[in-house]
Amino acid sequence: MAQSLVLITVDCLRADHVGFLGYPRKTTPVLDELAGSSTVFSNAIVAGAPTYYSFPAIMASRHPLALGRDVVGIAPEEPTIASVLSQSGYATGAFLAANPYLSPRFGYDAGFDTFNDFLGNGPPRADALKVTAASLRNRMNSYLDKACHSLGPVGGVYDELYFQYCQAIASRSGQSLDSLRRFPSADVILDEASVWLDNVGAQPFFLWLHFMDPHSPYYPKEEVLQWMAGDSIAAHALRANSYWNREDAGARRLHSRRDEVVALYDAGIRWVDSQIGRLVDKLRLHQLWDNCIFAVTADHGEEFLEHGGRYHSPAKLTEELIHVPLLMHGGKASGAEVHNEPFSQVDLAPTLLDALNIPAPANFRGTSVWAQSGKREGSGKAVIVESIATCKNPFDPQRRVGPRLLAVRDSKYKLVLDFASSQDKLFNLKNDPDELHALPASAEKPVRRRLLERARNHIAESIHSREMGQRLDAQLRDLRRECGDPVGSVVA
Ligand SMILES: [Zn+2]
Repeated sequence: MAQSLVLITVDCLRADHVGFLGYPRKTTPVLDELAGSSTVFSNAIVAGAPTYYSFPAIMASRHPLALGRDVVGIAPEEPTIASVLSQSGYATGAFLAANPYLSPRFGYDAGFDTFNDFLGNGPPRADALKVTAASLRNRMNSYLDKACHSLGPVGGVYDELYFQYCQAIASRSGQSLDSLRRFPSADVILDEASVWLDNVGAQPFFLWLHFMDPHSPYYPKEEVLQWMAGDSIAAHALRANSYWNREDAGARRLHSRRDEVVALYDAGIRWVDSQIGRLVDKLRLHQLWDNCIFAVTADHGEEFLEHGGRYHSPAKLTEELIHVPLLMHGGKASGAEVHNEPFSQVDLAPTLLDALNIPAPANFRGTSVWAQSGKREGSGKAVIVESIATCKNPFDPQRRVGPRLLAVRDSKYKLVLDFASSQDKLFNLKNDPDELHALPASAEKPVRRRLLERARNHIAESIHSREMGQRLDAQLRDLRRECGDPVGSVVA
């Protein structure tokens, strides 16, 4: 029988926070063990960040801006790994932890017989429209905030007082971490997927799971905090998240909270790992494991002040945001192999299809890693990452069209081109892994030229190969939605 495929994507999971890539804290014991019999890609790089610039490559092997900057998501009729497998006779199911960008609105349901995005039937974040005590408090705060900041130094004092006031209210209400969590946790997603697996029958299947546990706000399951660090952190989770989210907090104060916030983020990863363990056990129990390709990766990383920021802004393509874990188990991918070459997620879908011995559609831009192996170029292989720096809410079509931010990265160097400021910065990642000191403009000229040439070819290629039919279909879909749909939320 044909092999099945499980693809797990974890939101915000950085490569350097998983054990099998060297993280010292025990975040991924299940994956670490699995890595011993898997192909591990130690240098997997997303094609764009955050979520809405990353997933076109994962699902459709396409660079995110290739259909035009105004097109976000999968175009109608655009072939994806799900549609290819569906046409090949696979049962296809997706269970996604309420990320509004991975919804039918952006075309991600294409090719799935079962698509549960946990967003409900209404527009995303409908709760944001409800008038609650908290939202009234926010409105009042915004009014007072403006008034106080117009008075100069009083503004800072007011920020502090208001923050303390909110903390007092929150601690009085005694909210549990479960009630503060914004997305369904991995166990909830897996429970639904398990029911689907029980009913899938004898056909081969493609199961896609997307977990949001490491996404902010960082409210992990309390039991996982006990496994990792005792429950003392749970008591401070609300305060830590509130501090971390403050617009007005200076770098020194944020740094003082960083370890606490990272511990909460790591606990989210550990919970995902435990649920992956549950899934593997289930597949083994049902004799599905040995006939299954199993892949785990992330859509982007997360920043914890490494370059002065938090979360995952499209305005940066730094390593903590673009370098993600990737492991594959089963079929060609079994056997404790490590690929250290840069691996673009544009190549992920063709690689997975190759593992299943199914040809990739002609319009997939990437190539299977096994088809590339004969023509490796050492450090010459450079991958592309791109975003629109100003697009923080692609629900608003006007925000989508801004200057491009583009990075070209090989195993040693990274060139970052900022089209807004017409600046380019070259980093030597071997000597400067934290990416803090751009090389002087006069340094490494041949390298700079080579990477610039790669960037130029990428842009020319994406303009020439633009599928006008898909582009127009996607524009029409957006126009239709604009006519009757309210603007959504700002989550990535
Ligand atoms: Zn994301």
